[in-house]
Amino acid sequence: MSTSMIPGERPDRPEEACAVFGVYAPGEDVARLTCFGLQALQHRGQESAGIAVGDGETIVVHKDLGLVTQVFNEAALAALTGHVAVGHTRYSTSGGSASWEAAQPHISAIDDVLIALAHNGTLVNIASIRAKLIDDGVQLRSSTDSEVAAKVIGVATQRTHHLREGIKDMMTTLQGAYAMVLASPDSLYAFRDPNGIRPLCIGTLPSGGWVVSSETCGLDIVGATYLRDVRPGEIVRFSESGLDSVQAVAPARRASCIFEYVYFARPDSVLDGQSVYQARRNMGRILAQEAPVAADLVLGVPDSGIPAALGYAAQSGITYADGIVKNRYVGRTFIEPTQTMRQMGIKIKLNPLPSVIEGKRLIVIDDSIVRGNTSKKLVAMLRQAGAKEVHLRIVSPEVKWPCFYGIDTDTQDQLIAANMDNEQMCAYIGADSLAFITIQGLHDAVHADHPGFCDACFSGSYAVDIPLAQQRRSFIQKDSDASESDDGSSE
Ligand code: SF4
Repeated sequence: MSTSMIPGERPDRPEEACAVFGVYAPGEDVARLTCFGLQALQHRGQESAGIAVGDGETIVVHKDLGLVTQVFNEAALAALTGHVAVGHTRYSTSGGSASWEAAQPHISAIDDVLIALAHNGTLVNIASIRAKLIDDGVQLRSSTDSEVAAKVIGVATQRTHHLREGIKDMMTTLQGAYAMVLASPDSLYAFRDPNGIRPLCIGTLPSGGWVVSSETCGLDIVGATYLRDVRPGEIVRFSESGLDSVQAVAPARRASCIFEYVYFARPDSVLDGQSVYQARRNMGRILAQEAPVAADLVLGVPDSGIPAALGYAAQSGITYADGIVKNRYVGRTFIEPTQTMRQMGIKIKLNPLPSVIEGKRLIVIDDSIVRGNTSKKLVAMLRQAGAKEVHLRIVSPEVKWPCFYGIDTDTQDQLIAANMDNEQMCAYIGADSLAFITIQGLHDAVHADHPGFCDACFSGSYAVDIPLAQQRRSFIQKDSDASESDDGSSE
């Protein structure tokens, strides 16, 4: 995927907002399995990582800021003994919110109810519920929606003396996007919002244990076999009696995030039965039909643009070439960029191959355009390297609307496609031509028979109602302090 950001600058891409992973496997090193699972899911969040382990009596958590390999060493894993674990990697939607307190899993200890919760998504009706918890004397250590969810479950479980009732209470009280894993001292739970917005799948270990993961690539790394997805509105419990399931809330209009296929998910993952790699090839193939242009070479912007470029090349008959090299070791960093680094710009992450592109008319395939800054730098870089023409082809439709379901797509005034027509965008970016796949083309590429996708960031059709106050903040310029304010909808 082309996370072509300059260290310290706001990313010019929609950003993923977390991965979750869970294991129930007596006799196995569940902390180590979870650590491997989180490494496979590292692309979904690089700001913090954490694992909580239950041993039948209590739960111990280790979490910190940084990548999974920075947060966990042998000593940290050795201290996490038990038979049930949940893990999390986090990307926050506000630059100022990277804190230990906001890192997950969140522990909730209310009387004798002890749980650890990990959440991918964003809850949209948090403000009043958060205020009520505080009024009732419940202590919150962060401003995140996920911690509110953990406390709502804790309070309801303490009241009903039944953890599944506590989770059900949260699922009927809180709205928005959530794919969650929860550990009690002796069991693992997995549940998903009624629209099924963010992905969550179940696998089985050769030992007979169970694994839950945001993507199937997390199952693959620990040798688990895919069983099925967690269904929208379902609570699945893994314990000494095996897997049992209840439909806690009725499924609503299906709205699985279609952007997962474009950009967020790893190409080796399978979502709802569709290979992400194959979907990306299909996007390129359909884009070649929708927006053909005469050229000498087709290039993909690494990484997510590569399969789509192969699809475009195959459909158009134009030669595919590796013309852009990605530095895989520049990612999110807490190091402030210097002026020199800013001037280096996109070259910190991507570098062209002049020997391939010099004098050539290029079709360049990228996954998305959010603000347009990175695309502008990319086109300039390719021209400097000798490209004769640069035709930009984008395998997502124009991003015109903010996402409220766990993805940071920036505020609407920052979205280039919400403020310019195609001709203006093309001139701003400096390309010879610019075209986006259509919304229908994207649906056809991804999954013709799927029960329903969310495509709200392209269409403006939201599956879950958004409170007005939250809408307002997402249509005006982002203020990093305000963006994680009273709604706490930061992950
Ligand atoms: S608005 Fe866009 S990014 Fe957000 S869930 Fe829907 S499709 Fe995904």
